[in-house]
Amino acid sequence: MLPLTDEQRLVRDTVRAFAREELWPKAPEHDASGAFPWPQLKGLAELGLLGMTTPEAYGGAGLDAVSWALALEEIAYADPAVAVIVSVTSGLPQYMLLKFGTEEQKKRFLVPLAKGEWLGAFALTEPQAGSDPASLKTRAERVKGGWVLSGTKSWITSAGQADLYVVMARTGEGRTEITAFLVEKGTPGLSFGPPEAKMGLHAAHTGEVRLEEVLVPDDQVLGQVNKGLSHALAGLDSGRIGIAAQATGIARAAFDIAKDYADERVQFGKKIREFEGVAFKLADLDTRIAAARLLVWAAARKKDEGGRFTQEASRAKLFASELAVDATREAIQILGANGYHRDYRLERYYRDAKVTEIYEGTSEIQRLILARSLYR
Ligand SMILES: Cc1cc2nc3c(=O)[nH]c(=O)nc-3n(C[C@H](O)[C@H](O)[C@H](O)COP(=O)(O)OP(=O)(O)OC[C@H]3O[C@@H](n4cnc5c(N)ncnc54)[C@H](O)[C@@H]3O)c2cc1C
Repeated sequence: MLPLTDEQRLVRDTVRAFAREELWPKAPEHDASGAFPWPQLKGLAELGLLGMTTPEAYGGAGLDAVSWALALEEIAYADPAVAVIVSVTSGLPQYMLLKFGTEEQKKRFLVPLAKGEWLGAFALTEPQAGSDPASLKTRAERVKGGWVLSGTKSWITSAGQADLYVVMARTGEGRTEITAFLVEKGTPGLSFGPPEAKMGLHAAHTGEVRLEEVLVPDDQVLGQVNKGLSHALAGLDSGRIGIAAQATGIARAAFDIAKDYADERVQFGKKIREFEGVAFKLADLDTRIAAARLLVWAAARKKDEGGRFTQEASRAKLFASELAVDATREAIQILGANGYHRDYRLERYYRDAKVTEIYEGTSEIQRLILARSLYR
């Protein structure tokens, strides 16, 4: 393992203690009820964990991206639904505001997001535009002093709960003539669909963001007009490190449950960990978890160095998300019938893990990005 600094260790240990105490006990209940985890998010905000990598000058904790990844891994270990909310608000809107926002926008929008007084959402996907975001149809018509947005965004994390939406809308006829807009909750014409009935991550509400002639002033254009798609893709590079960390946390939680169980369960007069069929599964998962962490940290370090980190983020996201699905499936197998019981948490981790192979770019899209980057 790469050495961590004292500060990174402190972040990891502090978040681990909070997550075990405050998130782990509530996770099954939140999964069953679908209640949005506001009290837990408030606790994370008080620890400065909703704006970890945003500079202190803008209300954040000013930490490095490795610390952010360590924190997300610990949060996901305890409750993957909380992890995705935190990953999105910090990894996408805050990152995009920091990178592309004006000083005025940073003061007005980034500060409350980084302090955790607000939650942020990223609205790119539409019913007909998923892996191919350039096919989005939401339109922004030019009017005096601003733009009027109309369209429907689908599958938006924290829809209805978030205070700020980074909305990508078409501003020209060309395929990539898309612009990013900052839209505040409460703006006339902005409304939300109910939470979607998802397989997992029940506490992390996901839904439609509907825009009916929403007037957005010029000073709420984020970055350059007609460059919104590339701004969004840059945001996704950052977001994918968060999802990779989330997936690693899920894999580790499932692994730990299976490892402990294999040390207790006796069949044929032996602990089941003494059977090679079980022991090798654990050995493989342990190795893959260590590799996933290294990929996540490598991507985070590259991000901290500045410059592009697309390839590193895609590698980490692809590897860690496939691991999360495999680890949760294998852990259930190691527990046998108990793995299939809700009380052992693994069925929930299995349901929560699946989406890490889908959101912020499916595994197929990560492979496309990686294959292209081989010849750059
Ligand atoms: C829980 C959840 C939360 C989400 N949160 C957000 C959010 O906050 N903001 C947001 O904007 N979006 C969000 N999304 C949307 C998510 O990013 C998209 O679902 C994802 O990008 C895939 O798009 P799609 O579902 O339309 O699948 P499609 O693009 O329709 O793909 C269907 C299948 O075809 C494959 N495919 C497509 N194109 C290719 C290709 N060129 N080569 C090979 N295979 C291909 C895909 O890999 C997939 O297997 C969320 C989704 C979920 C489920």
